[in-house]
Amino acid sequence: MQTRYATCPSCGRQGHFRCNGKQRWPREVAAQHGLPPVITLWTCPNCLSTISEIDLRPATSVIER
Ligand SMILES: [Zn+2]
Repeated sequence: MQTRYATCPSCGRQGHFRCNGKQRWPREVAAQHGLPPVITLWTCPNCLSTISEIDLRPATSVIER
């Protein structure tokens, strides 16, 4: 299972997010919004929100790895 340590923009807590699949956009739509055509979705371990890779914040602390 792919995980990523990051800060949740929804609940503001840090944790190991789990990969929740990928969101694909048609190339023209992605280009219009300045987004990559494939965006990974992550699930917050604290509030269980689904957060797109673009909204995910890097962890501010490096205490945990
Ligand atoms: Zn959260």
